[in-house]
Amino acid sequence: MSLSTTPEPASSPPVLRAVGLTRTYGKGEAAFTALHGVDLDVQRGHSLAIVGKSGSGKSTLMHLLALLDRPTSGEIEVDGRAASGLRARELNPLRNKTFGFVFQQFFLTAGQTVFENVSLPLVIAGLSPKERKERTMAALDALGLADKANNRANDLSGGQKQRVVIARALVNEPSVIFADEPTGNLDTATGAQVEEILFRLQRERGITLVVVTHDRDLAARCDSSVTIADGRIVERTEVAA
Ligand code: ADP
Ligand code: MG
Repeated sequence: MSLSTTPEPASSPPVLRAVGLTRTYGKGEAAFTALHGVDLDVQRGHSLAIVGKSGSGKSTLMHLLALLDRPTSGEIEVDGRAASGLRARELNPLRNKTFGFVFQQFFLTAGQTVFENVSLPLVIAGLSPKERKERTMAALDALGLADKANNRANDLSGGQKQRVVIARALVNEPSVIFADEPTGNLDTATGAQVEEILFRLQRERGITLVVVTHDRDLAARCDSSVTIADGRIVERTEVAA
């Protein structure tokens, strides 16, 4: 009980909260626990870097936070709402509406146009062709790709492809963008451009960024970072003041 007579300030819950997240792959003798009881809050509009060696559990953690996978135990809350109680038919729209993905394994469909690739989340969301066109072109415009709308994805450079992936992540106006090694396959200069774009989206649109990266410089630019080793958070840093 509080002795204070002034009311508590209304504080909004973190956009993402992980409580005691554990993920075990496989069963019996083959069982392997990739994540052991991880607790983590991500504040709205902030950027968080997840760093650690290969195999430490970064992607496992990100997939759980992004509701692409379910924890073996523990809970994820999105805006204070527990995800474990949601059925697939509630979870899928929530994920589609709230999150954007910049993942290597969700790459572009090579034979489709840039426009078709970027508008896919809007097709899934069931928007009208008119709305799809407006929002897709706005996202392409924001990434400097409007003139590439009718090009086949396959005909673009690596940096342009990654910008298309970011446009697709942006098209649903998500509150969180998850990026797993977003600059990993790019040369230094192109990687730096992609990094600039992600931080610009955070700054200008208040989008929360959760970034898995090996790149210490990229991690240092985030508001906070966590280091994972063997499935546990071993270090937490508040980078920005
Ligand atoms: P990181 O992204 O840090 O490289 P991951 O989260 O991908 O690490 O993997 C963490 C550990 O879990 C690794 O040892 C990996 O081999 C294992 N792992 C990941 N996914 C699976 C899976 N689907 N089945 C079995 N083991 C897995
Ligand atoms: Mg990984």
